[in-house]
Amino acid sequence: MKIQQEQLSFGLLIVLLGVLLSVPAAAAKKLYVVTSTTDMAALAQEVGGDKISVESIARGYQDPHFVEAKPSFLLKLRQADLLITVGLQLEIGWLPPLITQSGNPRIQVGANGYLDASQFAEILEIPSGTITRAMGDVHPLGNPHYWLDPENGRRVAKGVAAKLADLDPADSAYFQQQFQDFDKRLSAAEQKWDADMKPYRGRKVVTYHNSLPNFAKHFSLDVIGYVEPRPGIPPTPSHTFDLIGLMKRESCRIVMVEPYFDLKTPNSIASQTGGRVVQYLPSVGGEKQVDNYFKLFDYDIDLLIRSFQAAQ
Ligand SMILES: [Zn+2]
Repeated sequence: MKIQQEQLSFGLLIVLLGVLLSVPAAAAKKLYVVTSTTDMAALAQEVGGDKISVESIARGYQDPHFVEAKPSFLLKLRQADLLITVGLQLEIGWLPPLITQSGNPRIQVGANGYLDASQFAEILEIPSGTITRAMGDVHPLGNPHYWLDPENGRRVAKGVAAKLADLDPADSAYFQQQFQDFDKRLSAAEQKWDADMKPYRGRKVVTYHNSLPNFAKHFSLDVIGYVEPRPGIPPTPSHTFDLIGLMKRESCRIVMVEPYFDLKTPNSIASQTGGRVVQYLPSVGGEKQVDNYFKLFDYDIDLLIRSFQAAQ
């Protein structure tokens, strides 16, 4: 009996020790942030630092309009403390049922752990008037590809930092500091990007999908047309014919294509206009080495400048 009691108290001691040891771990529990796309993950990582762990559902080389749902997505969403979406219906084709099926009350639309990042950004091309099916897969709330303007990256990062502070008030000073650090580094990078792109202001480009209005606005590029006849509608011979005519008239020699589109039509357009196909990256993670928000702009700007120079 005595031995049993001693064993019992020893066991209790082990349990107590375990509890004591696990206290610091519990206090340092990181917020688990899930994002729809890699760009939102990259911005959250900038301000969340080592106080969060963050994962994106979509990969950077995938078309964010069409992501095939996998069971592993549900597992992530089930555990998330915070879900950050691009919004403006970019993910309407795949994300809403996943949110519902996750059964996680924290991240349901309207809950405190659901953050639509578009509310912080400058949104372009908000349509006026009635949207009809004939307009294609047009985004009725405005163009959702807003993260490709560094100013919007800054705004989203600030909004995410505030949300993280809301969910984890003990670390709010940390998130604020992280944002200020990001803001400083972004300003320095922007100065360089703006200077590098300055000689190419006003250059005319064609893009496959209408993914670049914010990028074009920031760097003063002139997007004169799209390979898609309407958003989300594959190229047609008659539209391609018209586009080639337009590019010839306007002396436009750059066709910018997202990595998930077929190159057949862009290549044919380029060969008939003496132009070049530029496979740029719309998202962080489009290439392995492009693993943060800064490297995305570094990559695209470098690529674009080399293409402008070669297409003179
Ligand atoms: Zn789109």
